[in-house]
Amino acid sequence: MKDSPQVTVLRLGHRPGRDERMTTHVGLTARALGADKVVLANAARNQADTVIDITDRFGGPFDVASTEEPKRLIRDFEGSVVHLTMYGEPVQDVEDDVRKAHAEESLLIVVGAEKVPFEVYEHADWNVGVTNQPHSEVASLAVFLDRLFEGRELDREWENPDRVVVPQETGKRVVDPDEE
Ligand code: SAM
Repeated sequence: MKDSPQVTVLRLGHRPGRDERMTTHVGLTARALGADKVVLANAARNQADTVIDITDRFGGPFDVASTEEPKRLIRDFEGSVVHLTMYGEPVQDVEDDVRKAHAEESLLIVVGAEKVPFEVYEHADWNVGVTNQPHSEVASLAVFLDRLFEGRELDREWENPDRVVVPQETGKRVVDPDEE
């Protein structure tokens, strides 16, 4: 988030035809909950385009990239690497250490789809479980980012939006900020 080292989310193992919505939702969740960038491994162009389109309409900054070499990205990452997995250490036990590391350097958060290669477990500075129960990359990413930022991401302000949602008790209100 603003004024702190970058947080990048890497989405591994996208299976075309199976993971389309989940990959899009990883990107949208990363953006909405305070990450700076998502990198989609082997993702179809559509998923990246959807996240870019939302950023164009609802504001940024947020970067979207893709890679054909996700293992290299993890290996060469300059900063700390967190891999979210149901087999990892409980998030509540490691979040302080991760936060301390992130105060000093960038963070790469890796989430999977299908089976994650063992090298990822080895390269990660932390393998982190959000519970040790199987659920989803979107849920684990959301909880992890909220723990990392201790809720500050909920008050984030967006730059250059074309439209802004005005919270309502009932109904929907979306405005063009230039016409307010
Ligand atoms: N066996 C997988 C694992 O390692 O967590 C479950 C695969 S799950 C369909 C896809 C992704 O969701 C995983 O690669 C992981 O990133 C995330 N995930 C699922 N359950 C999780 C949990 N309890 N804690 C953290 N991440 C989880």
